[in-house]
Amino acid sequence: MNFLVKQYLNDNKNKIKHNYLSKQFSDYKIIFKKIEKIIKFGDYTLGNQVKIFENKFKKLQKSKYAIAVGSGTDAIMLSLKALGIKEGDEVITTPFTFYATINAIVTAGAKPIFVDIADDFNIDPNLIEKKITKKTKAILPVHWTGRICDMSKISKIAKKYKLKVVEDACHSINAMRNKKYAGNFGDYGCFSMHPLKNLNVWGDGGVVVTNNKKLADKMNLLRNHGLVDRNTNKIYGYNSRLDTIQAVVANHLLKKINLITNARIKNAHYLDRNLKKIKSLNILERNKNLKEVFHIYSIKAKNRDKLVNFLKKKGIDAKIHYPKPMHFQPAYKIISLKKEKYPNSEKACKETFSLPVHEFIKKNDLDYMIDSIKKFYNEN
Ligand SMILES: *Cc1c(COP(=O)(O)O)cnc(C)c1O
Repeated sequence: MNFLVKQYLNDNKNKIKHNYLSKQFSDYKIIFKKIEKIIKFGDYTLGNQVKIFENKFKKLQKSKYAIAVGSGTDAIMLSLKALGIKEGDEVITTPFTFYATINAIVTAGAKPIFVDIADDFNIDPNLIEKKITKKTKAILPVHWTGRICDMSKISKIAKKYKLKVVEDACHSINAMRNKKYAGNFGDYGCFSMHPLKNLNVWGDGGVVVTNNKKLADKMNLLRNHGLVDRNTNKIYGYNSRLDTIQAVVANHLLKKINLITNARIKNAHYLDRNLKKIKSLNILERNKNLKEVFHIYSIKAKNRDKLVNFLKKKGIDAKIHYPKPMHFQPAYKIISLKKEKYPNSEKACKETFSLPVHEFIKKNDLDYMIDSIKKFYNEN
């Protein structure tokens, strides 16, 4: 069942890769030195480096509080739990996301209720109200690819129906909408530091931001067995803490986060300008009020599957994020027997593909990708 071993081997064969980690951590010896100090001191779980990380992260996202947890998935699941979401409750989200969004809702005990996406791949706020029932407790917008959802509309709906809002901002470190950073629109904002995310560590890691002291306190309790101190178990909680060693890696990379983000934006804009000319592709309009951080550079393409295979043969790691919407997954059967259609999500799964735009992609890599796509469509 561990398909990852083989996947890593295959992904590493490409000339132009999505996975850039050997370069990302080519200065690993500096990190080793810092880890050495941890080994001498021994504060492996929620140690001083975690505290330093939380302080740096809340400044980065301009939030009042940041609480580091075990993964992005835990960040979402614990947020729902902290907001009192329980068995029988409904949480509104999108079927065009990564599995973790849905897993977090279901493991929190709630039922995911899907609302289709709009043309920007994000949940369509105009379709949300129709799905609200007496059981609805929260909206969980996913800022897909690092493009923040229309949060003013979503917040208005949440206010009107007294719903909680948890942002899945796992793609959106450093992203902004109307000059406001991801994570500050809802009750909680959830981030992932999985090795392939924009800010990455040497394994799993996540972080939650909030601007509400009570919610920060609750999250602090929930992630660490509900302990206020060594001898007091105030509430029942979980064990979902960021390892101190991972915090060392995160702190090291945080210094480069602006460089990482800016390189992604620059690469994406270069692709935008050049790929726009290809008639068989459909590039999103970029909204001036958004700072998109392009965790994924996603485009719609005619003949998508053939194009992706063609690019793979050319050594370009073109990826599909993701080929099936959540309601087509086998796991979904336990949640609903009702067959509902989400046509935009289904279409996005059939038509979109992604190209790597990380900070180690150079201009000649971008040109090679552009030329290869032109070749495929005979548009030279
Ligand atoms: C990566 C991701 C998550 C989960 O993050 P992990 O750290 O891998 O648990 C959640 N939602 C989305 C949209 C993601 O891409």
